[in-house]
Amino acid sequence: MEEEIMTPQDENIIIDMKGIYKRFYIGQPNELEILRGIDLRVKKGEFLSIVGASGSGKSTLMNIIGALDRATEGDYVLDGVQMRDVPDSQLSSIRNRKIGFVFQTFNLIPRTSALSNVELPMLYAGMSGGERARRAKELLELVEMGDRMKHMPSELSGGQKQRVAIARAMANDPAIILADEPTGALDSATGRLVMDLFHRLHREQGKTIVLITHNPELAAETEHIVTISDGRIVSRQQGGEVRAAV
Ligand code: ADP
Ligand code: MG
Repeated sequence: MEEEIMTPQDENIIIDMKGIYKRFYIGQPNELEILRGIDLRVKKGEFLSIVGASGSGKSTLMNIIGALDRATEGDYVLDGVQMRDVPDSQLSSIRNRKIGFVFQTFNLIPRTSALSNVELPMLYAGMSGGERARRAKELLELVEMGDRMKHMPSELSGGQKQRVAIARAMANDPAIILADEPTGALDSATGRLVMDLFHRLHREQGKTIVLITHNPELAAETEHIVTISDGRIVSRQQGGEVRAAV
């Protein structure tokens, strides 16, 4: 394949993937090809969902988008940065600055308060203590958890934990929020509140949001829906069912 120097054609494109393959080696001579030529372009400020059966490669793709893992083959330019040129030692700092993660199982640090959980990414980014506490409080208020700042994760309900996790994802004001089945462990009413919060972050803060979900109704609310099957994108649809402002 001919080498192509990637320069961002359009600075409005924040996620630019071309021909992404991911193979896992499971002992010679076997390898599993999990992603098979993914082309994905996401504009700044877009709200996109990725749907597909269990095992189709959604989380593997999300890990690459979020710089938690690297593609085996293909080009990925994240917010103007050619990821192939980024040494392993710098991956975590790019991730911490550019991406906010939200997971199905919340992944809060158990024995520390909601406030400390939200401060953590800012600590890694080198922000001073006073500034961290101020911003963490502001974010917890934004997700309507201002009255639970001192609570430990074990003292919070699932929906409350997820709101803390979303506040934490916003800590370093990342351009992109990546949410992998964020409502998967929640009942539908609580999941609804979490979705409403994503809509607000999209609308009011201009966040680019990539949502992985099993729920077609939730996907239909987003602007674009990408369906993955067996490591390939098999359909791209417009979504954006109009939702009343909440
Ligand atoms: P989804 O999120 O769509 O359910 P995943 O991306 O988690 O799917 O997984 C897709 C496939 O890749 C699964 O068959 C899974 O077992 C496999 N897989 C994921 N991570 C690894 C790994 N580190 N090593 C080997 N296989 C993996
Ligand atoms: Mg998954």
